[in-house]
Amino acid sequence: MIKTQKRGSLIIISGTTCAGKGTVIKELLTRDKNLYLSISYTSRPMRGKEQNGKDYYFVTPEEFEAKIKNNEFLEYAQVQYGCYYGTPKKEIETKLNAGLDVILEIDVLGAKQIKEQFPETILIFIMAPSMEIVKERIKARNTEDADQIIKRFRRAYQEINEINKYNYVVINDNLEDAVKKVESILISEKCRVDRIEEIEMENEEEIIHEFLMQKDNNL
Ligand code: 5GP
Repeated sequence: MIKTQKRGSLIIISGTTCAGKGTVIKELLTRDKNLYLSISYTSRPMRGKEQNGKDYYFVTPEEFEAKIKNNEFLEYAQVQYGCYYGTPKKEIETKLNAGLDVILEIDVLGAKQIKEQFPETILIFIMAPSMEIVKERIKARNTEDADQIIKRFRRAYQEINEINKYNYVVINDNLEDAVKKVESILISEKCRVDRIEEIEMENEEEIIHEFLMQKDNNL
């Protein structure tokens, strides 16, 4: 009998701008009911159709700093334009203990902090097939000015330089293929030998003896 860990896995999904990581995660969540997507806190202003408590918990910089002092974050970073982003500690602990696999959609800096605290974290980096395609996707989105686009590009190049900190890279050139790849990674990770908590071995001599007795009786 092999007993494996009941506690859920912690999974980080990062990716360059316009790599489609949000879409990949959304699809994963509809397919696997054991997955939970953590909702981060941020001090950046709400965008477009975003909702408080669904996309992020939107707070003021002062509220965020109070939470830092209270030690409420597993990690936090000033990601874009000096705005804070942070992963809530309590909620994640509860979900992992309940056996759910928790996805954190966070940046490279946050991923580094989490990996240091929890080395067993699974780190997946999602990339667009090329920067040319990223350019097309940003243009089509048409939500940012030139200055913001340049910043996004610079960040994307910096993040790609950090890719060796990750365990897996998935190129998102086709949504279905990318989702399948991430699903396969998660399935393989569940089979890792280091997830075994206990191996109970029946007595070898007894098993052989019992088997031989049964064999004799059947003759
Ligand atoms: P956006 O403002 O476009 O929603 O997110 C900008 C970046 O912040 C993304 O790369 C996203 O992965 C990252 N991010 C979102 N939440 C967190 C978090 O809790 N911690 C860290 N370190 N990064 C985050």
